[in-house]
Amino acid sequence: MNPELLRRLPALRQAAQAGSLGLYLHVPFCVDRCTYCSFATTRDRSLQPATTTRLTAEVDAWGEALARPAVDTLYLGGGTPSLLSATELEGLTRAARRAFDLTPLVEATLEANPGTVDLAWLQRARHLGWDRISLGVQALDDGLLARLGRIHGAAQALESLRLAEQAGFRRRSADLMVGIPGQTLSRVLADARTLADTGIDHLSVYLLDLDKACPLRAEIDAGRLALPSEDEVADVFEALQVELPRLGLAPYEISNYARPGGASVHNTRYWERRPYLGLGPSAASQLGACRWTETSVIPAWAEGRGELDLQELDAAEALAEIPLLGLRLHRGVDWAALRTQAEVLNLRPLAEAWESRLRALATEGLTVWEGDQVHLSPRGMLLSNGILGMFV
Ligand code: SF4
Repeated sequence: MNPELLRRLPALRQAAQAGSLGLYLHVPFCVDRCTYCSFATTRDRSLQPATTTRLTAEVDAWGEALARPAVDTLYLGGGTPSLLSATELEGLTRAARRAFDLTPLVEATLEANPGTVDLAWLQRARHLGWDRISLGVQALDDGLLARLGRIHGAAQALESLRLAEQAGFRRRSADLMVGIPGQTLSRVLADARTLADTGIDHLSVYLLDLDKACPLRAEIDAGRLALPSEDEVADVFEALQVELPRLGLAPYEISNYARPGGASVHNTRYWERRPYLGLGPSAASQLGACRWTETSVIPAWAEGRGELDLQELDAAEALAEIPLLGLRLHRGVDWAALRTQAEVLNLRPLAEAWESRLRALATEGLTVWEGDQVHLSPRGMLLSNGILGMFV
């Protein structure tokens, strides 16, 4: 364990024992790199055995260090977790069961790339206890998928959703991307309808993010492709806000829609600031006042080397995160509870300043107050970056 974390271990253990944790495991391998990707992932599968072995050992080590705390959500993300062999997946799953108390487990999600799943693997995963699957569909247009460098076509994406259902995954989520060069509003709406028709219980709608250097960014910078304008993108999000609830998928967070009972419990814990432990290259953890991110350099991580980015939030930063993250949720924030917390922390003026700004935004139709509960309006959701900036 990193010496900085070791020094804080008693406090970390206390935070982990105070309630249930979310456990996130990162699998940093992909068949090919998508043209827009800036995640910690590699095509070099020769690193997979050592990385998976270390990940399994880390699960055991952290479970022991934190005195086998309770875990209520498991999440296997990537990268492409569906590239794990059935044996590797079984090893990781067994380690989680051995090292942590999974009695309160309510959700075990794994991410999968539609180009890498078959029925046998999905059935194995389901048998091991994984009960929710998130498939990176992104679009249902072969031309757009090729532009994104995805390894699958539209038909394969739909087939993977069908296979997941056949394997017994009653909870299935798909990702839909917005803002792809050449993507039209009618295309996005058609894809949303087709995905809803598959019976998925959850849809994540993401804006293509090209902040970091990547091949697609280079194409755009060279003038060979053009991104849709901000207005065009806003029109798409606005149309989805109307269309998805009609299709039975109600918004519960800025980017996420679900059927009743379909909201991701694991992801909701991030917006509610509930504790989580992330293991693997680039994985993030939050326990008590500590937050840390492991190195994203995969070979270094696999060998137990690499820098750890550790942060200790002060009281004002921790308080600011309640509205910063909580206002992403459709139900918003209980401001009476926030006010009480601010009193305890001696930060009442700060909470009052935020409140007066959020009340002013209500007159512009961007926030909605229902008693002491405040949430963003649909237009506020579209303009959330600007609004949430006040808490940073
Ligand atoms: S599948 Fe996901 S993690 Fe892998 S390269 Fe594509 S975007 Fe990146």
